[in-house]
Order: sequence, then C-alpha cells, then structure tokens
Amino acid sequence: MSNEVEITVQTAETNAYSPEWIRDEVIRIIEIFESGQMPPIVQLGHPVLRAQAADFTDQLNSELLRRLLDTMRAVMLNAPGVGLAAPQLGIPLRIAVLQDLYETTEEIAAVREREPLEYFEIINPIYSAIGTRTATFYEGCLSFNGYQGVVERPADIATSYLDADGAAHEKNFSGWQARIFQHETDHLSGTVYIDKAITRSLCANHEYVRWTNPDIAEAKIGLNF
Ligand code: ZN
Repeated sequence: MSNEVEITVQTAETNAYSPEWIRDEVIRIIEIFESGQMPPIVQLGHPVLRAQAADFTDQLNSELLRRLLDTMRAVMLNAPGVGLAAPQLGIPLRIAVLQDLYETTEEIAAVREREPLEYFEIINPIYSAIGTRTATFYEGCLSFNGYQGVVERPADIATSYLDADGAAHEKNFSGWQARIFQHETDHLSGTVYIDKAITRSLCANHEYVRWTNPDIAEAKIGLNF
C-alpha cells in the first residue's frame, strides 16, 4: 500500500467540455503536429479517457476536421498502432481512425482472423454483435502503454458510422477487424480494454514474448486464467 495521494474529485463541472474548449484544444494539438512534433497520446489516469465523448456535430469546420484526422492518422502510424480514438489525443469527440496493414504470419492471420484493414475514419460510430460467436485474444492499447491483456469480444459485428464528408455507412466486420472497431468505439464512451479484460491475463510487454502463440491456450495454463 502506498500513502494516500491528494485527489481532486471529478465533478460534473470539471467533466464538461464546451465546444469552444474542444475547438481550441484541437487547434493546439494540430499545431503541435504541423510544427513537426508528435502530440502525446494520453495515458490511463487522464479523465478524458473516462469521459463520454460528444457526438461530432459542428464543433469543427471541415478544414479543421481534416487536419485533426490527418494528425490522428500520423500519430497512429507513428506509435505504431492499428487504431486511434480522438480522446487518446485529449479530444472528447466521437471520432477515430483505423488501419491494419501490418505484416503477420499466415498462422496468426488464420487463427486470429486478421485480414488487412485499409485506412478509414469513423465518426459517431456504433456497433452491435451479430449472433453469439466470440473471439478471445490478447490486445493492447496505446493509452495503457507497456501491457497486453486478453479480451473476449463478439467476433462478428454490425456497425454504422459517418465519414468525414458526413456520408453514412453501414458495414459488418469480423475477426480482428471487428476487434479493432470495437476497441476504438469503446474509447468514445470512456471504456478502455482493461475494463473488459481477464485481469489475470495481463502481461507487461517484455513478459508477453512468452505468449506469442496465435491463440491463448498456453497463456491460459501458464497464468491460470
Ligand atoms: Zn486503445
């Protein structure tokens, strides 16, 4: 046990982000990126990761939205990651970017149903499970640096979202693509994967190298979960 630290109680007031505050913060983040630096990815403990993000309406004009999305894409690829939600840059808006074009082995691709996912942007996304099939694998989060944990998720989902032009899309995803979509969309309602993880499966990255099999069978035995 450690000594109690001074805690500021989160009130409704401190949890409220005005549209003006959001726009100013977006401009601040974009300017960090456009000046040649990578804006930091906020880590667990930052309240924005636990807030309900606002639906994107007209908080940003289309030019600012484009610059924010380009910044998010660059931060995701630089991390590197397969998705990034706006709250991870401290922006409480329901916006995320996704892309998974990383090389993987045939075996991992088959077991984890990991199909390449071309870059796309999701605004105000929602998802729901199709059927009862689930998939249980390790995943990690750029806002919970240095750890991996096992999460059971619906394997097949129906989604809807807007693109940056405001066009509505409805699309189904399966396997790893469905996992990425769920992980990023969960961020927009203040949920991080650790909330859904089997906590006994948690691994620091340098221990995770023990459990890199495509499935979780060995980790399950080794870590007793
Ligand atoms: Zn994440």
